[in-house]
Amino acid sequence: MINKIRSVEAVIAPPPPHMVGDGFRVHNFFPGSRLIDKKRMSPFFLLDYNSKIEFAPKDEPRGVGVHPHRGFETVTIAYHGKVAHHDSAGNSGIIGEGDVQWMTAASGLLHKEYHEKEFSRKGGLFQMVQLWVNLPAKYKMSAPKYQEITHDSMGVYSLPGNNGVIEVIAGEYNGVKGPASTFTPLHVYNARLKKAAKTVFDFPADYNTGLLVVEGNVIVNGETASADHFVLFKNDGNQINIEATEDAVLLVLSGEPINEPIAQYGPFLMNTWDELEQAIQDVNAGKFGVLED
Ligand code: MN
Repeated sequence: MINKIRSVEAVIAPPPPHMVGDGFRVHNFFPGSRLIDKKRMSPFFLLDYNSKIEFAPKDEPRGVGVHPHRGFETVTIAYHGKVAHHDSAGNSGIIGEGDVQWMTAASGLLHKEYHEKEFSRKGGLFQMVQLWVNLPAKYKMSAPKYQEITHDSMGVYSLPGNNGVIEVIAGEYNGVKGPASTFTPLHVYNARLKKAAKTVFDFPADYNTGLLVVEGNVIVNGETASADHFVLFKNDGNQINIEATEDAVLLVLSGEPINEPIAQYGPFLMNTWDELEQAIQDVNAGKFGVLED
């Protein structure tokens, strides 16, 4: 294989934040942005980034109440703080610093997402990402599923010279596999790099690829990207060279595009408008199950 550098298409500053419920203050990097439409990062449909925020103590946990999803997966990645999750498929869990929750809504469920009780009571630093990973038509109506991916269950590739680690959440890096099972080929890593570390990522050119700088500052194929910025890559090569100019944490995303029509309405992500109408009817008919607020 001929190595060709993948060009940086844009280094995107965090858009103005908005609240999701009262518990998540997020920058929506996509699909809302001018540069990344609903297909540009497919199979990743949405990236909401809760940049660092200090929450004051509160007895009643902040969050998002009961709501439905159908047709995709929600992936929540915790950097600081703790969140609790409950869904109508009977799954629940708490994720804290370094953990990931990979929830397959698929045919449909109701869920709620709140700050974990004890975290809420004490307050503190909060930083999270939520991704929506699309499903191809043939899997949109498969059964819901829940994967709790604890920090210590991730695949770990240690960079030579004690320069940091690549934590593999999904997919593979240099032969190290991640624990998440996925419906289409994709890679999700947390790269935790020491200052002056250099590393290389290699993905097929047709895989849509980007990275979020969660901490620190890096040089990516010659371009500087600082904390809270998203780097979007062109699909013109395979190789990404990273140099950390300070200690850095990067969320790296790459996946094979799902080349199907997209129809989205609120929390539903389907292929056609008819399917969206069906989803609304099914929620109203109680087919997404029951979950108390
Ligand atoms: Mn949700």
